[in-house]
Amino acid sequence: MKTYTGIPASAGIAIGRAFLYLEDDFPEIPRYAIRKAQADSEWERFEKAVAEAVKEVRALHEQASREMSREQADIFEAHLLMLEDTEFHDQLKNRLKNKLQNIEWIVWDLSHELTQKLGASPDPLFRERAADISDVSRRLINKLLSVTRFSLADLKEDVILVVHDLLPSDALVMNKARVKGLAMDAGSRTSHTAILARAFNIPAVLGLSVLSREIKNGEKIVLNGSSGTVVTNPDRGVLVRHEGEEKQFRKRADRLLGLRELPAETLDGHRIAVKANIEFPEEAEQVSRYGAEGIGLYRSEFLFLAPGKSAEEETQLRAYRHVLKTMGKLPVTIRTVDVGGDKILPDLQALDEKNPLLGWRAIRFSLANPELFKAQLRAILRASIDGNVRIMFPMISGIEELERARALFDDAREECRKKSYPFAEDIEVGTMIEIPSAAMTADILAEKSDFFSLGTNDLIQYTLAADRGNEKVNYLGQPCHPAVLRFLERTINAAHEKGIKAAMCGELAGDPAVTALLVGLGLDEFSMAASSIPVVKQIIRGVSFAGCKALAEKALEGRSVDGVRSVIEEWMAKNFPGGRYGV
Ligand code: PEP
Ligand code: MG
Repeated sequence: MKTYTGIPASAGIAIGRAFLYLEDDFPEIPRYAIRKAQADSEWERFEKAVAEAVKEVRALHEQASREMSREQADIFEAHLLMLEDTEFHDQLKNRLKNKLQNIEWIVWDLSHELTQKLGASPDPLFRERAADISDVSRRLINKLLSVTRFSLADLKEDVILVVHDLLPSDALVMNKARVKGLAMDAGSRTSHTAILARAFNIPAVLGLSVLSREIKNGEKIVLNGSSGTVVTNPDRGVLVRHEGEEKQFRKRADRLLGLRELPAETLDGHRIAVKANIEFPEEAEQVSRYGAEGIGLYRSEFLFLAPGKSAEEETQLRAYRHVLKTMGKLPVTIRTVDVGGDKILPDLQALDEKNPLLGWRAIRFSLANPELFKAQLRAILRASIDGNVRIMFPMISGIEELERARALFDDAREECRKKSYPFAEDIEVGTMIEIPSAAMTADILAEKSDFFSLGTNDLIQYTLAADRGNEKVNYLGQPCHPAVLRFLERTINAAHEKGIKAAMCGELAGDPAVTALLVGLGLDEFSMAASSIPVVKQIIRGVSFAGCKALAEKALEGRSVDGVRSVIEEWMAKNFPGGRYGV
C-alpha cells in the first residue's frame, strides 16, 4: 500500500482498478517499392484493413449513440462514410499503381497531402474533413501494420484513469461512462482537464507528479477527489473507511440539494446571483437541479475542440439555441471562444508556440480571425430570440481589444440585419477580467462594458506568473495573495462606480472557503461548477453582508498569503463552528 498526495480537483471517491494510459508516438511507417505484380495483393491487404476498420468504427458508433452525445456519434458516422468513400479508394488505387510503393505508405502519403490542403482552407467544412481523413488513415495504417492503437473512447470496463497528462481534447473523447476516477501527474485545480472532470462529475486528483511512473496497470486504487489522495493496493481498513466516506459524501450532497429553491441571500437581505459554468450544451439540463439562476459562463470553445469538428455557424446556432431554450428566461452568458493555451485547434493554431499561455489565445485569436469570430457572434445573435443571452469576451488586455471586439459585434449585427435574421437588440456585452492589465484599467474598461466577469483562474496565474497547469508551481497560485485581493477589490469597485455588475466565473467563485470574503468585496454574481452551488448558497445564507464587509476590510490589510488566510480562517471558524457548512 502506498499513498500519493496531489491536488483535490473534483470531489468524490472512486475505488477501482487503475488503467494506465500513456500516449505512444505514432509508429514509424515503412516505405518500400513494390513490383507491378504485387499491386493487387497490396490492394487486397487494403480492402481487408478497411473491412476491419469499418467493423471497429461501426461498434464505436453504436456505443456512442447509446452512451455519448450526438456530436460524438456523428464523428464516427463521418468516419464510416470516409472509410467507404469510393472517391478516396479510387485515388489510393491510382496512386498505388503509379507510385508502386507499399500500401501503408500510399495511405499516409495521400492522407498527408489531403489534410494539408483541406486543413488550410478557410471553409470549416473542409477543415472538418481534414480531421476525419487524418483519423481514418491512422486507423487504416494501424490495421495494415497490425498495431492496435487504444483510444479512450474504446474503454469497455469501469476504470480509474491514470495519466501523465491529458489534454482537454483527449478528455472530450474518453468514454465518460466508464471513467470512474481520474488521476494525473500534471495539472492543478484550475487546469481545464480538472474543470472538465467536474463538469462530468468524475472524482479527480491532479498534480500527482510520479504516480503514472510508479503504478502498474490493473492495480487496485482508492482515489479521493475531495482530499486529493490516491492509495494504491489499499488494505482492508482504507477500503472500508473510503466506502463509508463515499456514502457520507453522497448523503451530504443530497442534503445540500434541498437548498436549491432558496434564494442566495445573506441574513441581512443582500441578494447575490448564483449561476453555473458549463462546457457542453447538454449540461444545461442539469444545472437547475443544483439551483443555478442562470449560466454565468458557457465555455463555447469546447464546441470547436471536439475532435474532427470545427463548429460552423449552423452547428453553433443549434448548440446555443439548445442552451437558451433549456434555460428559458434565465440568463446565459456565452463566452466567445477561448482557444489557445492548453486548448489548441490543431488545424488553425501552431502546436509549437514557445509560451502558449502568453500566446495566441482567446480574443487575440478571434480578432486575428474576424470571419470565424463574426460567424460565432452571428450564431449567438440568431439564437438570442430563443432566450436571455449575454456575450462576454475572454482575455481582454486593454480598451483597444474591447473596442475592436465590439466593432466586430456591430458588424455581425449588421450582417444579421441584411440577411433578415431576427435577433435581440439589447444583448449585454461583458468583459472578462483575467489579465492584470485589465484589472488595473478596470475603470476604463467599465465605460465600454455592460458587466465584468472575473476569470480568477487566469488572473491568478498571470498575477503570480505561475502556470495553472504546472503542478510544480501550483503552490504559488494563491487566491489569498494580497496582490490578487487588491485586483479583485479594484475590479469590483470600478464596476460599481460605473453602475455595472461584477461577476466571477473562475474556480474561486465555487470555493466555500472564500465565499464570505467575496461577498464582502461586493461581488454581485458567482458562477461555478453546478455541483458547488449548494454549498456556496449555504454559506451566503448563513452570513451577514455587514459581517462579510468587515472581513473583507481586514483581509485587505493582510501582508502575506498566510496572513490573509488566517484572517479568513478565523472568521469562518467563528461563523461556522466545526467547519460545518457542507460538502
Ligand atoms: C478563468 O480564467 O478564470 C476562466 C473562467 O476562464 P478559463 O478557466 O476557461 O480560462
Ligand atoms: Mg480564463
